[in-house]
Amino acid sequence: MALSTDLGERRSVLVTGGAGFLGSFLSEELLGRGHDVLCVDNFYTGMKRNIEHLLDNPRFELLRHDITFPLSVETDQIYNLACPASPIHYQYDPVQTTKTSVHGAINMLDVARRTKARILQASTSEVYGDPTVHPQREEYWGNVNPLGPRACYDEGKRCAETLFFDYRRQFGLSIKVARIFNTYGPRMRPDDGRVISNFVVQALKGDPLTIYGDGSQTRSFCYVTDLISGLIALMDSDDEITGPINLGNPVEFTMRELADLIIDLSGSRSAILHQPLPEDDPRQRSPDIARARETLGWEPGIALRDGLRTTIGYFEELLSLGVNAGTGSQ
Ligand code: NAD
Ligand code: UDP
Repeated sequence: MALSTDLGERRSVLVTGGAGFLGSFLSEELLGRGHDVLCVDNFYTGMKRNIEHLLDNPRFELLRHDITFPLSVETDQIYNLACPASPIHYQYDPVQTTKTSVHGAINMLDVARRTKARILQASTSEVYGDPTVHPQREEYWGNVNPLGPRACYDEGKRCAETLFFDYRRQFGLSIKVARIFNTYGPRMRPDDGRVISNFVVQALKGDPLTIYGDGSQTRSFCYVTDLISGLIALMDSDDEITGPINLGNPVEFTMRELADLIIDLSGSRSAILHQPLPEDDPRQRSPDIARARETLGWEPGIALRDGLRTTIGYFEELLSLGVNAGTGSQ
């Protein structure tokens, strides 16, 4: 437990999904701020390599555990990030994805209830589905197909949000809900399957970049360190600020523009290969971040071009180490 209840003091923080892409950056940042971190992960998509530099830190602890099962630990804050985030990974075992979102949320909320810890949920822009309102504001209820292949993730995350607000109403929990928009950076798996890791690995290997559909669909990409500072700002905000709060970079790109930029920045001679658009793939996505700006004083600062340079450097190093770098395809 914390040495003090003051928010500025050393805290004991549970990070579920701590060996994943976002979780490993979050754990590193929390350790850097002087907190103790318990990383809980079942390594479904997480990688030891993401956290191996943290293992020698006496304030870092790793527990292999599946959050769909109850957990009994002491903690002051919980960041609930555990859940596969890439469409190919969350669709691989859709029942487990829903369980992770729903049973996992219940289990972590129960930890928070017992320990009186504050708890933050990593929700997602996918709660807006294929949005008919653009850019997306938190008031928008979304347009999700509850029967399609993305529903295990979208509806699981929507149900987790419901549970968070019901635990607050019913048991008075201190909750925070962040709706994270597409975030990228180093430590994504080469076979993650999301668009930036796919395009970068393909460009570096000289393989064709696989654009799904005609490439006119849009996304808005946030660099990982920007996102992490938003998550921590939300967690450390006043108790009455529950969210949901959109966290993302509002600058919007088509997938065709993204492919061209990655080919340009990596100096690649790769061609473009069009493949079928996955079912229910959202046509457009961009966050309205007015609420984050006003309530947290947060906004992203890293332009896509700059974040991509660092990300390309990371994957270049990974490939030079001979890490198996097949991309994840649909
Ligand atoms: P990731 O796949 O790299 O990390 C997820 C981590 O959770 C992995 O380490 C995985 O092993 C772990 N995990 C999965 N199921 C688990 C379970 N049942 N028990 C314990 N651990 C489990 O994904 P990420 O991009 O780091 O995403 C982290 C969180 O942020 C997810 O909840 C995701 O839904 C959310 N999110 C991410 C993005 C993004 O663009 N990166 C966007 C929206 C929401
Ligand atoms: N996409 C693509 N090629 C790929 C991977 C993804 O064109 O190799 C497209 C995908 O169809 C979607 C966008 O890129 O329109 C973002 O996909 P991603 O899986 O990264 O995230 P999400 O769909 O969850 O926003």
